[in-house]
Amino acid sequence: MSFFSKTVVQDKATDQDKWKEKYLNLLDEHEQSEKSYKEKEDILCKTIVRLTIATTGLDALLDPHLMNIRDQLKNGINSQALKDELEKFTASVAQIKHTPHQNQPLNIELLFDFLLQQYTVEKRQNALKLLKQKAETINFETPNQLFIAILEAIEPDDAPTSNILANHIDIGIVSKQLLLFLESIEIPSIFDQQAQIAKQLLAASNQSTTSFEAILDKSFKLLLKIKQHNQSEQQDIDKFLSHITEQLAALDVSVMGASTAAIESAENRNKLDQSVSEQMEELKLSSTKATKLEPLKGIITSRLASIAKEIQEHNQKEAIQRQKTQQQLDDLVDRIKTMESESCDLKTKLKIANTQALRDTLTGLPNRNAYNERLEIEMARWKRYHSPLSIIIWDIDYFKNINDNYGHKAGDKVLQLIAKLLSDHSRATDFISRFGGEEFTMLLPNTDRQSALILANQQRQSVEKTGFNASGASVAITISCGVTEFIENDTDETAFNRADQALYQAKQEGRNRCCIL
Ligand code: GH3
Ligand code: MG
Ligand code: MG
Repeated sequence: MSFFSKTVVQDKATDQDKWKEKYLNLLDEHEQSEKSYKEKEDILCKTIVRLTIATTGLDALLDPHLMNIRDQLKNGINSQALKDELEKFTASVAQIKHTPHQNQPLNIELLFDFLLQQYTVEKRQNALKLLKQKAETINFETPNQLFIAILEAIEPDDAPTSNILANHIDIGIVSKQLLLFLESIEIPSIFDQQAQIAKQLLAASNQSTTSFEAILDKSFKLLLKIKQHNQSEQQDIDKFLSHITEQLAALDVSVMGASTAAIESAENRNKLDQSVSEQMEELKLSSTKATKLEPLKGIITSRLASIAKEIQEHNQKEAIQRQKTQQQLDDLVDRIKTMESESCDLKTKLKIANTQALRDTLTGLPNRNAYNERLEIEMARWKRYHSPLSIIIWDIDYFKNINDNYGHKAGDKVLQLIAKLLSDHSRATDFISRFGGEEFTMLLPNTDRQSALILANQQRQSVEKTGFNASGASVAITISCGVTEFIENDTDETAFNRADQALYQAKQEGRNRCCIL
């Protein structure tokens, strides 16, 4: 091999090495870039996933999209499905009624720099530049409207043409999106200070000494805290609602208890029940829609006020009804009392009437009616038990003379005296009555005719012995009687007539005597 050829060979080798080295360097560079890209892509994926987790539950409209975005991220950041999903998400964001605060306007410059780097096709570049001018001069009502305009400028199939490795994810864009998001959500006042710090960090993420990862971490932790707070607020709402429901149930029970008294109130009660349950249904509806405690409290307070008003009105109606029922009850009680008192009076009168009807007022002895009643009873007993029953008819001897000689009043006193003597000399079971005028009758149960005669004579002798004092003069009084015992087939009349005949006989035989038949 010649020197030349050797040199050529050497040169060739050197060139080859150079190219090889260059190639290897490029490969290293590429690997480095790819690694860096991979890291950035990881951060972005992580960011989006955390963002979707943190924002889930803040708005029902966005929740399904957030879940889909998380799913699509598994297929990498460049998938068409992810882009579609992000588009849908953006469209849904546009429908949300939240108006983000305008005090920190969107950094148009930064946003469009990024977009112009990503979309290099002339047509898109022109569209984006036009939109940028428009965004700088016209103040878009919400950032969402601007995003929609951007989406329109970039057609869905218009994938970025620039080298993503060279123009990797811009921290500013991610920060801006987060910042916008923080601006657009309602932050509970307790997180004001933390939100302020996060916003400042995000706004200055490019210049910040804090690493972007740390800023993201801070922001997501804050978002998670807000979400947890909202969840616990929802729990408070639930607790509050269940408390209210319990109260309403208790109220319901007391209303039900109070209203059972009146029958007519059943209709009112049903109306109230219906109304209360309707209001409670509305409360439930409000609670399911509610995400904030304060407005819900407002709704519940006004509903409760309305329910309380209805209950008050119902109670007033009830009170009137109760008053009416009470009045009716009082009237009824009065009427019953009056009836009782009338009945009592009637009983007394009846008793008096009966007494008067059966008793002789002058002597106090049972009268003829009483005799007839008693006769019926004693005859029934005599027939049933076959026990002897005797009857005596008394008559004062020459009584007319007493009236005539000493006056009618003296005659009355004689009647009273005879009544007393006959009573004093009889057994408890014997029944003495003033039959009429100066005649007395006696019913002697369980007494045969002989025994009756013995008793009669004792009585006659007691009268004879006693005598009567009229106007200072001693007047002799005697009585006569006829005695008989009930015999088979006797009626009250036949027995009485026999006794009367015996009396007649006693009179005929000279008076002051007892005859038996
Ligand atoms: P006898 O012995 O036959 O029975 O003669 P008597 O006078 O008792 O009979 P009489 O029937 O003739 O007279 C009965 C009198 O009794 C007539 C009447 O004035 C009198 N008398 C009847 N009831 C009463 C009364 O309640 N009070 C008084 N003071 N007298 C009466
Ligand atoms: Mg007589
Ligand atoms: Mg007489």
